[in-house]
Amino acid sequence: MREPDFDVDWVDYEREPRVAPNPSFPSGVDLDVSGGAQRTCTAVLPYPARRVGAYLVECRRCAVNAMVTTAGRVDDPRSVKVACKDQPKEH
Ligand SMILES: [Zn+2]
Repeated sequence: MREPDFDVDWVDYEREPRVAPNPSFPSGVDLDVSGGAQRTCTAVLPYPARRVGAYLVECRRCAVNAMVTTAGRVDDPRSVKVACKDQPKEH
């Protein structure tokens, strides 16, 4: 197995979700916070999250980072795409 490209930490907000999941996303959401950048990194997130919290994601290659919130529901993020600083293509 390949060395993961991302450090992913989960911050536990110690709360359970209070609202029902968005029925439009029954199998998770692929987030894109790259702003349409040509060079991107995509981090795969542990899915679903345990409960309400946030993933802190940092690329090991270019050190770009992102924070995405979770709810512990089926509409949690599965992955997040960020603008990459020095990758020639998606990795
Ligand atoms: Zn990167």
